[in-house]
Amino acid sequence: MSGRSRPLELESDLVLNQRLLQSMGGMVNETLEVARDIANYCTDDDELKKATQDIMLSFIGMADDIKQVTTALNHVKNTCPMIQTDSDVESMEEQNLTSSFTKKLEKLKAAGRRDENRLMNHPKYEELISLFTDSGTIEEQLASLRAALTGSAEESQGELAMTEMDINIRCPYTGCTMQDPVRNILCGHVYDRTGILTYVKQKKSKAKCPVGGCGNTEPIQESHLEDHRDMRKYIFLLSQSQNF
Ligand SMILES: [Zn+2]
Repeated sequence: MSGRSRPLELESDLVLNQRLLQSMGGMVNETLEVARDIANYCTDDDELKKATQDIMLSFIGMADDIKQVTTALNHVKNTCPMIQTDSDVESMEEQNLTSSFTKKLEKLKAAGRRDENRLMNHPKYEELISLFTDSGTIEEQLASLRAALTGSAEESQGELAMTEMDINIRCPYTGCTMQDPVRNILCGHVYDRTGILTYVKQKKSKAKCPVGGCGNTEPIQESHLEDHRDMRKYIFLLSQSQNF
């Protein structure tokens, strides 16, 4: 982005930067999802964790670069209030605008270099680090997941908090321990993905929630089902613990 040789095209550059920033935000979030899986399932792979940290830092760094360019573009735009369109840019003193942009960008970059920890202090990077470090023992992780799972059950069904024994790890349709738990966003009931999708297919898309007494009368659609990460991790950790 530095050392631009083409003329400044303020509006289109701002739009482009906005798009880049959005997709970089998507990459950051996806890296965090991958990190979550690594923290859950590759607990001892320190090399993989280090690589994921580095990838996260480079995405955050790229997002930071884009933000600096956006700020510099906005600076030029705001200090030259007559500019409305890119053709105005052409008709103005191109040299002045470009040098104003470059100066502002250099200032921002210098400020960024003075604050070495700013990428490390990014909330998404901190979240990733906490995923890798705060895991605790299997028993501790199970305890906090139990709290999370019973808490959400209390909210969605208005019942008293379930005891830990009541956390159902079996699919209400297949009766088997769930491999890939999904939550019905309409009623909060949890099923195994493969099992419930087989049921939906068999019923030719007229499958209602198979949990007895469920008030949700909407036929289940794939779009009603969301990953239930806490349940998935809970079942995984349970299988690793001695109490299974
Ligand atoms: Zn239901």
